[in-house]
Amino acid sequence: MASSVCVVGAGVIGLTTATLLQDALPAGSSVTLVADKFTTDTTSDGAAGIYRPGKYFQGPSEQMTKQWLEVSYKHYKKILNSEDATEAGVRAVSGYLFSNKNPEICQSPLMKDIIDEYRECTQNELDLHGQKYGIFCNTLVVECRRMQPFLMDRFKRNCGVVRKQHVNSLEELADEGCFDLVCNCSGLGANVLANDRNVTPIRGQVFKVRAPWIKNFYYYENETYIIPGMDLITLGGTRQFDNDNLEVSTWDASGIWQSCVQVMPSLKDAEVVRQWVGLRPYRPSVRVEKELMDFGGGKTLKVVHNYGHGGYGVMSAPGSSMYAVSLICDFLQHHQYHRAKL
Ligand SMILES: Cc1cc2nc3c(=O)[nH]c(=O)nc-3n(C[C@H](O)[C@H](O)[C@H](O)COP(=O)(O)OP(=O)(O)OC[C@H]3O[C@@H](n4cnc5c(N)ncnc54)[C@H](O)[C@@H]3O)c2cc1C
Repeated sequence: MASSVCVVGAGVIGLTTATLLQDALPAGSSVTLVADKFTTDTTSDGAAGIYRPGKYFQGPSEQMTKQWLEVSYKHYKKILNSEDATEAGVRAVSGYLFSNKNPEICQSPLMKDIIDEYRECTQNELDLHGQKYGIFCNTLVVECRRMQPFLMDRFKRNCGVVRKQHVNSLEELADEGCFDLVCNCSGLGANVLANDRNVTPIRGQVFKVRAPWIKNFYYYENETYIIPGMDLITLGGTRQFDNDNLEVSTWDASGIWQSCVQVMPSLKDAEVVRQWVGLRPYRPSVRVEKELMDFGGGKTLKVVHNYGHGGYGVMSAPGSSMYAVSLICDFLQHHQYHRAKL
């Protein structure tokens, strides 16, 4: 039976979920995307978008986490190998994870067996970069400045409805009485919309610079990073827990600039295009879950949550969103999608 689903949130999670849903729902169904911020106003827009899961990235279970990561990599790899790669902002990138302190800092166990190449650095590579420990790998970058318009375009072409609106509570959407289910992809907004105190901002500040001579990505001690995108390079960064200040800090900027130029002196000639601050929607584990919200007086709303991706939402969006879509289909009893995809 056809259904009407509302997706709240137009960041990379909401857009990925909305487009996957359009493919999954039976003919005649409708998907409405509601958000108060779009494209360059979202957190997703400024993310470097590298596929490099941190050690603490966590879905609902260990197995599910690995599954999401595998599915996401395959999904983006497919785009990379298609004619859409440039428009969608997906590119291959190789580079280094370095440390002078501890070999563990450079390890990335969650992507080790997924990406195309992951190996210890040779002594030559370490000497060249003045580092003690290092990993070399081939991975992907997904730039949301391109990916989000790409997904939005696809969503609209498939007759998706877009509404700019601040949602004060999910009850408002229940009151409209026209949605069979709401998918909550509101990132940090879930703090209020799902009344979830586990959702916390982790503030990140970066430079976006033009330095076309830099071809590889570099992480130093997991703190200083240089990540090439489609046109610009992201220099970072900061990870400030429970800090929601969206202003660019000159103090942070000077620390980031000095660290990056110290490890890569040629960056002193880079053209600074902009500085940016974003708030990573952190949760100890990403929440993708069904909930039957009960507002009293017999008023209920079927909700599937998909939020709390912290610093890894771009790279994990396809996997977590496919799982969310399978829960949505289950909740709406469209079982045909459920097992077929995951
Ligand atoms: C400096 C920095 C670097 C990063 N680098 C990477 C990286 O290299 N790789 C990676 O994978 N990830 C990275 N991230 C993390 C990534 O940006 C996030 O995980 C991702 O953007 C989360 O996407 P989202 O769609 O959940 O949230 P958002 O992009 O914040 O979107 C949330 C959406 O919900 C809407 N919304 C919220 N509340 C309401 C409401 N009440 N009413 C209506 N609409 C609402 C907003 O308007 C918005 O449209 C980085 C983040 C930062 C800050």
